[in-house]
Amino acid sequence: MARGVRDFVYWVLSKPSVSQSLARTGMRSGFAQRFVAGETLEEALAASQRLAAGGRRIILNHLGENVTTEEQAREAAESYSEMLRQIHARGIDGNTAIKLTHLGLDLNRDLAVELATSITAQARELGLGVEMDMESSEYTSITIEVFEAVRRKFENVALAIQCYLRRSEDDLKRLAPLEPRIRLVKGAYREPANIAFPSKADVDANYVRLLDLLFDGPFFPAIGTHDPKLVDYAERRIREKKLGPEQYEFQMLYGVRRDLQTKLRADNHPLRIYVPFGTEWFPYFMRRLVERPANTLFVLRSLTAEGFLGGKHS
Ligand SMILES: Cc1cc2nc3c(=O)[nH]c(=O)nc-3n(C[C@H](O)[C@H](O)[C@H](O)COP(=O)(O)OP(=O)(O)OC[C@H]3O[C@@H](n4cnc5c(N)ncnc54)[C@H](O)[C@@H]3O)c2cc1C
Repeated sequence: MARGVRDFVYWVLSKPSVSQSLARTGMRSGFAQRFVAGETLEEALAASQRLAAGGRRIILNHLGENVTTEEQAREAAESYSEMLRQIHARGIDGNTAIKLTHLGLDLNRDLAVELATSITAQARELGLGVEMDMESSEYTSITIEVFEAVRRKFENVALAIQCYLRRSEDDLKRLAPLEPRIRLVKGAYREPANIAFPSKADVDANYVRLLDLLFDGPFFPAIGTHDPKLVDYAERRIREKKLGPEQYEFQMLYGVRRDLQTKLRADNHPLRIYVPFGTEWFPYFMRRLVERPANTLFVLRSLTAEGFLGGKHS
């Protein structure tokens, strides 16, 4: 079942006409709102303010990746600038997450470095932070290099590291001298077995190994998972090490495992929610479907209600 859903999702992503059709239906029929805070910054800020009122910190992300022109990259950077101004003006305890391919990495590495640096500089002036998301494995090395370049200038930048990649332990050791903030995640892209652990058991075991490296090393650990076993393990380590709330945080995605989010806050753990918004929500949304095949059921239900699967749409 899980494999069938995964193959279906990757098939949809490879067919632009099907993707575009589904994407048009998604916001209208409401299924996109399950994981995406809206298409506009205003909607995302409203969602962020609701979450912040419940004691959550925020990571605001303007969805977009693999831009094809410099103009699009600069527009993305400008939207980040506005996001930072708004987070600051509204007093939200939040930062922003950027993807380097949204800032032109496919076109010109220097452009992505320039834009990532200027976003981080602006964030620092406002007392805010920037987190670099990690994309598929073709970008891992370059993302780490760009992160290192920005981190040498500014402290307010964090990086996501994916436990499914066999290289990640070495990457963490290489990054240690920078004493960085690291968001540890399992990894959300389709990767070949020679570079990524294919089995969930191996990914989970590597998560524990890398989490130990974070807790025992010169890092600020951001525990980015909804896996209750890993959350329990992290809580145990936090208790053992007697860490205070300024020394770590949990991170979860908007709309995912809200029960666990509530429990973590009830236990007084710092929790940051990744809040994505924008019109380019489709690839992000599809990655969330792959993570939990049961999610496809509510999409199929909305599409059936819309007549999408009944032949009303071409
Ligand atoms: C804050 C944050 C930032 C992230 N940034 C990145 C990044 O930069 N790069 C990257 O590759 N990946 C990123 N991810 C995604 C991550 O790699 C995983 O794909 C995702 O978190 C699912 O893995 P999991 O650790 O929750 O464990 P899983 O074993 O996948 O799931 C554990 C449990 O969580 C619940 N769950 C997980 N996903 C879903 C879902 N979509 N819908 C409903 N329930 C779900 C289910 O109950 C499941 O049993 C990020 C995740 C988080 C939380």
